[in-house]
Amino acid sequence: MSDLPRRAGTKVAWHLLDRRGDPSSKEGFINRRAALSERRQCYVKIRFFLIMKMPDLEPTSSADFIRARVAEDVKANKNSGRVHTRFPPEPNGYLHIGHAKSICLNFGVAAENNGFCNLRFDDTNPSKESVEYEESIKRDVRWLGFDWEDRLFYASDYFDKLYEYAVHLIKEGKAYVDSLTADEIRQYRGTLTEPGKESPYRIRSVRENLQLFERMREGEFEDGTHVLRAKIDMASGNINMRDPVLVRIMHVPHFRQGSKWVIYPMYDYAHPISDALEDITHSLCTLEFEDHRPLYDWFIENLPVPSRPVQIEFARLNLSYTVLSKRKLLTLVTEKIVSGWDDPRMPTLSGLRRRGYTPEAIRNFCDAIGVAKRDAIVDIAQLEHAIRDDLNKRSARVMAVLRPLRVVIENYPENQTEELDAVNNPEDPSAGTRKVPFGRVLYIEQEDFRENPPKQFFRLAPGREVRLRYAYFITCKEVVKDSSGNVVELRCTYDPATRGGDAPAGRPSPKATLHWVSAAHALPAEVRLYDRLFNEERPDNDSPINPGSLDVIRACQVEPSLKNAKPLDRFQFERQGYFCVDLDSKQDALIFNRTVTLRDTWAKIEKSLKK
Ligand code: ATP
Ligand code: MG
Repeated sequence: MSDLPRRAGTKVAWHLLDRRGDPSSKEGFINRRAALSERRQCYVKIRFFLIMKMPDLEPTSSADFIRARVAEDVKANKNSGRVHTRFPPEPNGYLHIGHAKSICLNFGVAAENNGFCNLRFDDTNPSKESVEYEESIKRDVRWLGFDWEDRLFYASDYFDKLYEYAVHLIKEGKAYVDSLTADEIRQYRGTLTEPGKESPYRIRSVRENLQLFERMREGEFEDGTHVLRAKIDMASGNINMRDPVLVRIMHVPHFRQGSKWVIYPMYDYAHPISDALEDITHSLCTLEFEDHRPLYDWFIENLPVPSRPVQIEFARLNLSYTVLSKRKLLTLVTEKIVSGWDDPRMPTLSGLRRRGYTPEAIRNFCDAIGVAKRDAIVDIAQLEHAIRDDLNKRSARVMAVLRPLRVVIENYPENQTEELDAVNNPEDPSAGTRKVPFGRVLYIEQEDFRENPPKQFFRLAPGREVRLRYAYFITCKEVVKDSSGNVVELRCTYDPATRGGDAPAGRPSPKATLHWVSAAHALPAEVRLYDRLFNEERPDNDSPINPGSLDVIRACQVEPSLKNAKPLDRFQFERQGYFCVDLDSKQDALIFNRTVTLRDTWAKIEKSLKK
């Protein structure tokens, strides 16, 4: 928890103590006890207030176990007090919100300790990697607000070094070329309860191993015929230590190395060495690598590497109602279930950006969820809370009617228009005001009118008066229907004395305020409403996506100030939510994506379902 509430509580309480006299006297003692109890209550109240008002304060990044561990190392002058981390994505997909957690952690810990963070492409498996992915990753890390400066590295640049170290292990009798098939290797590995069995090739001489390994590199063998394995312990309780494979044959060109290599290192072998070559001090990775740590340390101990990094594991981010597995995300893209990696429903950084998320909101979210040692699922509502919170402060308010209903103001002169002042952002007075045109024909939202209003419905209905935001009070006089009985137009009157939307003294105000646009001035637009990608809280491989996750509304009408809105500009559509101009939007064909609704309707629905 942040120390802010505690400090605030302390301050209040000591202030009380000061007023209550000398603590050494009896009276002072009693007063002191009362003050302490008051102090405790104050503390509880302030803490409660802060948690309610600012959920982001709990927990803060200052207290997590990784930062504590790093602080300990710095204090003990380990690595001469140096802190150097890395973010090591494999360029085999686009980054998602889980990666953002890792990016914020690695770059954050480095910055807080005046250290450095490298961006290292973990490009050791050429079959799935590409420049497109590499470029997207760089773009997304930069967009999130982090800078690797001149520290851009590629594991593939270490292939020569990795080869050299492999030769070193062979010469030391700590690695051998195995010629079992992949299936046999699996069978020989044993299980969690049974030890593994040694390969008959384990006793090959150093000379033979060196020759075979050389010939593997020369491309003399087919894929899968030989591998290089570490010679550790086939009876180890940790399966990762049962002679893990270090290098395999793969006749696949590499997107950076071309066809220079036909052998490629495994992640477990390449990673500790890459860390050591880059002088990384703290190698932060996700929990699934906890059991690999003894192997990580084995390489560091058994190779003449220039530094001694340590691996620390933390829980990966899981988010409800979505998936954060690259493989599953790739399937959604390749099977065209979504429109691409940057489909605004995707939890990718490019998807979130296109949807209207800000880097600040994502960083705040990562800060708020903290870093823990145990896996948990974070409710996606928390991510939505972070973006709402940020957009509330910064986005300009505009009026947009998503499902228009025509309103004719009968007592408003034909051909007359006027401009009314509208506040751009009530949260930010410096954002100023703008003019919105008003005329005889308007559009309001279809759902803001009911011919037979239920009890709690205070918006427009026959005979009822409502306020049009920044404009006038209007009263519905007549309902016009088409031949099938659908309401197609409302005939209304307005009260000229209510200009600006204010009631003159003594005049009652209507209960509802509606947004609207002037039909003669409004611009047509397409609006895309998004909902959660999955209906299931914890979708698995076979879960279908939520068929209602995308709702395209084509005949919307938006206020004319949006004419020059550029892709990725963000707005609050009054009463509707936060919206972002889509990348495909054009001046004469505007498209808006709904980033998030104004209030958390989902939480409400879920709550009512539980009742
Ligand atoms: P894979 O290795 O299966 O391709 P990955 O999601 O681990 O997928 P990487 O490119 O290896 O992808 O990830 C780069 C870094 O981001 C790693 O250090 C990884 O631990 C971290 N990372 C990946 N997913 C998450 C997540 N959901 N939460 C936190 N960190 C993550
Ligand atoms: Mg990985």
